Amino acid sequence: MRAERIEPARRILCVFPRYTSSFGTFEHAYPLTDGVQAFMPPQGLLLIAAYLPANWPVRFIDENIRAATKEDFEWAEAVFVSGMHIQRQQMNDICRRAHAFDLAVAIGGPSVSACPDYYPSFDYLHVGELGDATNELIERLARDPSRPDAQVALTTKERLPMTDFPVPAYELAEISRYFLGSIQYSSGCPYQCEFCDIPGLYGRNPRIKAPQQIIAELDKLRECGVTGSVYFVDDNFIGNRKAALDLLPHLIEWQKRTGYVMRLACEATLNIAKRPEILEKMREAFFITIFCGIETPDPDALKAMQKDHNMMVPILEGIHTINSYGMEVVSGIIMGLDTDKPETGDALLTFVEQSRIPLLTINLLQALPKTPLWDRLERENRLVDDDSRDSNVDFILPYDDVVDAWRRCMAIAYEPEKLFARYAYQCEYTYANRLKVPVSPEMKSWANIKRAVIMLRNIFWKVGVRGDYKRAFWKFALRRLRRGEIEWLIASSLVGHHLIVFARDASRGRQNASNYSIRLREASVPAE
Ligand code: SF4
Repeated sequence: MRAERIEPARRILCVFPRYTSSFGTFEHAYPLTDGVQAFMPPQGLLLIAAYLPANWPVRFIDENIRAATKEDFEWAEAVFVSGMHIQRQQMNDICRRAHAFDLAVAIGGPSVSACPDYYPSFDYLHVGELGDATNELIERLARDPSRPDAQVALTTKERLPMTDFPVPAYELAEISRYFLGSIQYSSGCPYQCEFCDIPGLYGRNPRIKAPQQIIAELDKLRECGVTGSVYFVDDNFIGNRKAALDLLPHLIEWQKRTGYVMRLACEATLNIAKRPEILEKMREAFFITIFCGIETPDPDALKAMQKDHNMMVPILEGIHTINSYGMEVVSGIIMGLDTDKPETGDALLTFVEQSRIPLLTINLLQALPKTPLWDRLERENRLVDDDSRDSNVDFILPYDDVVDAWRRCMAIAYEPEKLFARYAYQCEYTYANRLKVPVSPEMKSWANIKRAVIMLRNIFWKVGVRGDYKRAFWKFALRRLRRGEIEWLIASSLVGHHLIVFARDASRGRQNASNYSIRLREASVPAE
């Protein structure tokens, strides 16, 4: 339980590292917005900030927005850092900068929890989730904030029940600078897909918060100025179906009460398509997007990676079912699987055409520590430690062929004409099925109208006038304008621009093919 006071109070500087450019962080969309600079508020660090004793001053810096300064380090008595594997270099860099001020630095989060040996320079390693290790870290810093003589590793044995989690300290973050708001209801997933580290890190029996906590968090996000989209970063929103069904009526009631100010999004397994009772309530709660790890349309590959649950309904049928409830599917795709064949790229492109999913995060397979895939490849002597490669997996097919196929898929799938055709389909057959919500005072406020005008101006000027895919854009945009579908025009243009620019870089070899940060859930960290 959070301590109200622990004397003496210590000044804690929480620093979230910069992201490496990736598919799922949408940075190419930011220049089209009214000042967005970062993807989502990091749940884990803001949770820790809220959990610290109430009398301890906390400063939070997201280095995607601004770098921690000399003044910040001089103010602090200790520094907390958190992040994912892909932020490893940046986290070690923050540690180096903090040590220049002789500050003790603690690291928590998914990366250090899976691979403590990645972080030899840190003074404190916080391994695992929020719990007894967190309390011990706080007690140690209260006793003595100076750097210990040797590294101290603290591992959570007893996790804090999620029902005791405080509301993350959203007020410390510059919420208006984020592309999306974030929130977390549950942690863990009952499945065991071979490549995934979630069950190993967070367990197979999903833990949950109380619905009232989520409502309090939504209220706080709203108070902090979030009026757009909020992403549930849960590993699998239906990991515990009963919990999802318990929460949804509260969300529906909250949306009705507040005038549907938030569009909701989440991650869930594709077998959600078999649950009309959940989909109907999600529609009523104004969920508009679901990220599904489809991974591959090849049934043999799904079987081999232990993702048979994706085949509980035919994949295309499942996608269309979800679309019929007004929710767009975003899909994760993996290439470089052992089951891949020379024709896998073509099969994938056919799937993209047929599914009409606009946003598919296509990655090369990467073996993460603490996964069954890692263990198997280690046994087979197929883990490759070579930073110049796009993956640490020794593929069955020749490496160059796999990377070439990935680049080709990126180039073709994100040709502007093809992408906007998929968005046009979504407007007609998905977005049109959404709940017709009243326009709330917040939505028609001057501030919100001004935001929309700024974004439209940027989109028309930077894409419609100065861009190099004007034809495809205007074909899509004029139809939306004629129909008054302004919100859909803005949302599709922002995301579409990022995808087109990112995919061009990728197909020219300027982006890493196994940037595992793209799964949206990972952009935010669950409780450390
Ligand atoms: S990939 Fe998704 S469904 Fe599979 S174990 Fe991970 S979180 Fe669960």
